[in-house]
Amino acid sequence: MNTSKRRPILAANWKMHKTAAETRGFLTAFLPLVDGLDGREIVIAPPFTALSAASEVLKGNKLVSLAAQNMYFEQEGAFTGEISPIMLREFGVKRVILGHSERRHVFGEGDDLIASKVRAAMENGLLPILCIGEMLEEREAGSTYEVLERQLSTGLSAIDNRGATQVVIAYEPVWAIGTGKTATPTQAQEAHIYIRSWLDSRFGPGIADQIRILYGGSVKPDNINELMALPDIDGVLVGGASLKVEGFAEIVSCQID
Ligand code: PEP
Repeated sequence: MNTSKRRPILAANWKMHKTAAETRGFLTAFLPLVDGLDGREIVIAPPFTALSAASEVLKGNKLVSLAAQNMYFEQEGAFTGEISPIMLREFGVKRVILGHSERRHVFGEGDDLIASKVRAAMENGLLPILCIGEMLEEREAGSTYEVLERQLSTGLSAIDNRGATQVVIAYEPVWAIGTGKTATPTQAQEAHIYIRSWLDSRFGPGIADQIRILYGGSVKPDNINELMALPDIDGVLVGGASLKVEGFAEIVSCQID
């Protein structure tokens, strides 16, 4: 049971799914289903092209906020195809997912680039959700913690103690993303304990206790309560199962103690 004061975050990463019209339709159906939920934060990360539609539907909503799935670290310039933090803020975007495993492993983003994005997000008033996680071969080779330590130490290299409480970490073992394989509760809790102990040694216990660590990797309505019952899991980042209104409404309605 999460007895901490960390408000859980239940976040949807829609990846390259949903047009602006589909986003409007999803949110219009979703909001009445979650009306009245409290003690949690719901975050939706649609594609860039749907942020405007989403921000119109979510206007004034205190429970559900918007995230972007990525951004570049400059405010403007000759960076064809990129989106800047100030462009995201224009649509009321609050958080930004950085270092997602698909950005790392499909698009080749490295830790230094991700660190620049984390810094730029903070400097421009966006709250980063820094994704970290090992690949299957790394887990099998026993190097999970080494990978997490490298991704954390570089990814958070520009973050000071004050900024650290604003950052959210998402632990997403790459082998569990989109595969239907969820980390066992023991595997997830062990990794989250490692991450919190790393945050503790970097920022001190008072700060590490405030930082939210989300789990991601094949979260579904039928495993959400088991995951959320673990003491160091402060929420979830959901891909596939966040695309259906009823399923995601069920996930965000999970039991929170
Ligand atoms: C993700 O992409 O962040 C994710 C966790 O995906 P899925 O839930 O589909 O495994």
